[in-house]
Amino acid sequence: MKLPADSNATGRDLGREEIALLKEVIESGTLNATKGTMVKRFVKGFAEMYGVPFAHAVTSGTASLHTALAAINPDPGDEIITTPITDMGGIAPILYQNAIPVFADVDPVTLNITAEAIGPKITKRTKAIMVVHLFGKPADMDPIMAISKEHNIPVIEDCCQAYFAQYKGKNVGTIGDIGCFSLQQGKHMTTGEGGIIITKDPELERRIRLFIDKAWGYGDPKPDHYFLALNYRMTELQGAAALAQLAKVKNVVKRRRETALMLTERLKDTPGIALPESTRKSVHVFWKYPLIVDTGLFGVDVVRFSAMLKERDIFSAPRYIQKPAFMCEVLRDKRTYGKSRCPYNCPSRKNEKEIVYDIDEYPGTMKALERVLVLPWNEFYTGEHVDYIAENIKEVAKFYLSRKEKERV
Ligand SMILES: *Cc1c(COP(=O)(O)O)cnc(C)c1O
Repeated sequence: MKLPADSNATGRDLGREEIALLKEVIESGTLNATKGTMVKRFVKGFAEMYGVPFAHAVTSGTASLHTALAAINPDPGDEIITTPITDMGGIAPILYQNAIPVFADVDPVTLNITAEAIGPKITKRTKAIMVVHLFGKPADMDPIMAISKEHNIPVIEDCCQAYFAQYKGKNVGTIGDIGCFSLQQGKHMTTGEGGIIITKDPELERRIRLFIDKAWGYGDPKPDHYFLALNYRMTELQGAAALAQLAKVKNVVKRRRETALMLTERLKDTPGIALPESTRKSVHVFWKYPLIVDTGLFGVDVVRFSAMLKERDIFSAPRYIQKPAFMCEVLRDKRTYGKSRCPYNCPSRKNEKEIVYDIDEYPGTMKALERVLVLPWNEFYTGEHVDYIAENIKEVAKFYLSRKEKERV
């Protein structure tokens, strides 16, 4: 059986609506958002759906996270606490703002960072906490927000995988100070590339708006380029597609949740496989469907488990990103600006402890990556697809389990 995939039309809800709005843009002759209407309509609609006063569109999820950090405006050598299990698009912007990523360990089951792990990482140089709601599962925000309040440190929520995921009845992205989203090909809604950023705070909004557009003070009595900033403006072509996608995204979330919960039902009694939880308190939106495989019980690693699923046409990503972010060359060897290794050793850190990434501080992360098997998920999956996936996972699990038992006798 061939499953729908988000890399092409089998698994993307793109069609008439996008074409109609794109035609409008082309015929208008205005492809730039400053003079056009599509991006404006899109961000207005997005802000309304999230119940926030401000939303801005940018060129990618990475750009949205960079913009969020630039709005917070850390000094060189300041520290940003985040998770080692995320897209590099959530980490590179920290270094681009000359701040240092400091990693907190994750819960080995949800793969999200926890307040317990963040607390000890706070120093007088911590300027923000970036929380990723991985795979669409909300992180446990109450205790994280308590730390944020106690130390007066803003929280950026990376919601690139978590459109309309809810934590205690609130949409993630509206709990911290800034919410960031991606419109890349594989996300819940897409324009190929693109991003969105939301906030309730007027001061942050001002810096966000300026950073996206070279910090030129449009509409001010005496405009100038107020500070160092880039051009992250979305085009009207992306805006048109985004506006059409916006009308669909809630339904996409609903369809993904329905079939994901079906899979949970089918697999719930399978020994050795822990399933992602979705509760009323924490609504999972299933960007992916991560399985936690008890590799000891099956006597096999997730790479082998995944290979046997692939023989049955079921693709999965064992170990998700393979290794924690701090083991990637860019961070491990501090390959940043020329040969400088800035900001790790910038002058303002002369009297500070050197930042070293020690694998022994991350038992949750290492355990999580060893056991996670990430199934792609899609709004076009049907009950038949789910049955097929469930049956094959159960058969593969049974195969390894009986092999292990035979070894024992
Ligand atoms: C996709 C993603 C990003 C980066 O978004 P791009 O649009 O690819 O730049 C950042 N963080 C997370 C958690 C993501 O899933």
